[in-house]
Amino acid sequence: MNIIFGVDIGGTDIKLGMFQEDGQLLSRWQISTRVMNNGQLIFDDIAKEIRQKMNEQSVSRSSVLGIGCGIPGPVDNQSFVRKCVNLGITNIYPEQEITKRMGGMSVQIGNDANVAALGEMWKGSAQGKRNILLVTLGTGVGSGIIIDGKIVNGLHGLAGEIGHFTIDPEETEKCTCGGTGHLNQIASVFGVLHYAKRFLQEDSAYSVLREKKDFNCIDLTDAARKGDAIALKTLNYCMGCLAKGLAVTAHVIDPDIFLIGGGMAKAGQLLIDIIEEHYLSNLYLMPERTEIKLAALGNDAGIYGAAKMILDRKGD
Ligand SMILES: [Zn+2]
Repeated sequence: MNIIFGVDIGGTDIKLGMFQEDGQLLSRWQISTRVMNNGQLIFDDIAKEIRQKMNEQSVSRSSVLGIGCGIPGPVDNQSFVRKCVNLGITNIYPEQEITKRMGGMSVQIGNDANVAALGEMWKGSAQGKRNILLVTLGTGVGSGIIIDGKIVNGLHGLAGEIGHFTIDPEETEKCTCGGTGHLNQIASVFGVLHYAKRFLQEDSAYSVLREKKDFNCIDLTDAARKGDAIALKTLNYCMGCLAKGLAVTAHVIDPDIFLIGGGMAKAGQLLIDIIEEHYLSNLYLMPERTEIKLAALGNDAGIYGAAKMILDRKGD
C-alpha cells in the first residue's frame, strides 16, 4: 500500500499525518512552528519529522507518493508564496524548499482553507459533492472553494477569500487587512465576541452575559439557545452577515454545499439554523436552497486535504 504525508502548517503548530492511499490515517502528530529565517526552520522540521516517521514505521522511499502541504496564506497558481504573515515568509516556493530536503520527493502546496475544503470532500461532510465552499469561522474568516473536484486558487491565490468581502459599509473599525466592514471582522470568533460586547454596551436589555467577567463563543451560543436577547441579536447580526456573503457567493459559483467549520462551528445546529434563515432571505432567483452543513473533520481537515492533493496530482 502506498503512503502519502499530509502537512498543515499553522502559525503556532504544524500538524502532520501519514495516510494510506485509500485515506486511512495511520499516524498523526504535531510540532511547534519555528517562525524565523524566512521559513527555513519550518521546512527543515517538516523534512526531519517525515524522515523520522518513515524510519520508525519502516516506510520505503519508493512507497511514498508525496507530501501535500497547506499554508496559511495565498498560494498562486505557480505555487509561489509572495507573503505569508503568520509564518514570516516572503517570496518563496515552499514546494522546492521541501523537495530539495527530501531528495526530490513530490511535494504539493496549497492555501490551508482550500486544502481543508478538499479534505472535507474526500473524507468529511462533503463526500460525494464536487462543488464546495468551506468557511472556517476561527480567529478570522477563512474559506476555500472547490469546483468540479478541484481547488480554485485564482491567478494570485485570492480566490475564495470571502472573509474580505465588504459586508457592512457602515462599519468604521478596521479589518486586519486594513479594510473596513469585512466579514472577517464580523463572523469570526473574535468578531462575534466583539459585537456581543458592543451590543451589551449599546442595548440595555437583560442578558446573562452581563453577569460574566468574560465570555467565549460557547457561553454566547448557550445563552442564545436559552433565548438571551443580546446573544440572539449578536448571532443574528454576525451570522446574518455571513449568510449575505454566502448568498453573494452562490450567485457566482452556485455550489452543491456550504460547509461551516472553525471554532464557531462548536455552536452546532443552532448556528446552521440561523445562517439558513438569513441565507434564504437573501436569495430571490433560486427555487431550491443549497445545503448548509457543519464541517466534520475539525482540525484534521487540513492534513486530509493535503494528502488528497498528492492523489489528485497523481491522477492528472
Ligand atoms: Zn479584510
